Amino acid sequence: MSTFNQPLGGNDMPRFSGPGTMFRLPSQPTAAGLDICFVGVGLDIGTSNRAGARFAPRQIRQESALIRPYSMATGAAPFDSFQIADVGDVALNTFNLSAAIKIITDYYMALLEYPVLPFSLGGDHTITLPILRAVANKYGPVGVIHIDAHTDTNDTMFGERITHGTVFRRAIEEGLIESTKMAQIGVRATGYSADDFDWSRKQGVNVIPAETCWHKSLTPLMTEIRQKIGAETPTYISFDIDGLDPSVAPGTGTPEPGGLTAIQALEIIRGCYGLNIIGGDLVEVSPPYDTSGNTSLLAANLLFEMLCSLPGCIRHQ
Ligand code: MN
Ligand code: MN
Repeated sequence: MSTFNQPLGGNDMPRFSGPGTMFRLPSQPTAAGLDICFVGVGLDIGTSNRAGARFAPRQIRQESALIRPYSMATGAAPFDSFQIADVGDVALNTFNLSAAIKIITDYYMALLEYPVLPFSLGGDHTITLPILRAVANKYGPVGVIHIDAHTDTNDTMFGERITHGTVFRRAIEEGLIESTKMAQIGVRATGYSADDFDWSRKQGVNVIPAETCWHKSLTPLMTEIRQKIGAETPTYISFDIDGLDPSVAPGTGTPEPGGLTAIQALEIIRGCYGLNIIGGDLVEVSPPYDTSGNTSLLAANLLFEMLCSLPGCIRHQ
């Protein structure tokens, strides 16, 4: 019998009822005593096209009610392995992006004074910059597994230096990322110029276009990536749901055809097992465009898989 927090079971309370927390775990106001926490960051004023990601933390939590505690594929049992809870949402200023960025930075700086690994429910991708500022303040420059249709390395958008499309340019410039230990997987579609992906490559980032992933398993790719990053490097997962094809993840702000499959997404996250994952985010789900709930459901499953890939996660197999 585990002494850790357990999700409220589907045979104790119907899955459509009960608490609206992530995985129906207990909520608590701080990260005291936790190994892992979930945080909602419903920011969507950094987005360039369809908004709505502000509703995603609530929707992902709702869809997470279906998730049971054991991975049948890997035997992973995160709730037998770690003390996990939902610590609620960041109290954003939704009228002022730079004020919101400071609020998020301060929030994660305080959060990471605890020995806790944060997993964040976006929000648009802008949230990753302030989170990485706090993460790098704790760990130094980190490795990054970045799944996305876009490299998010524009210099400016409409003259603004901080948007959901400039995040990784700023993060690399600020020295938050060890760029030779970063992979950008699933990038594709149309660019502002033909050399849009070159800035990342010049920084030493491993840029993996979606086309090179088509029609194949990504398990061998992840073996290569693990070798390159190594087992010790503190590594952060930033999963933009638009890295996946709109056929499996339509509920997002800047969808691009020809993306990764749900199976490939599972292979990527499962392939992170063996890395020193120290946190992650799932961003860019936009519930108003997610009419079936499938995008949020997939997002919740990917967050579960991130827990399963953490160092020290027990595997019953
Ligand atoms: Mn993105
Ligand atoms: Mn994107």
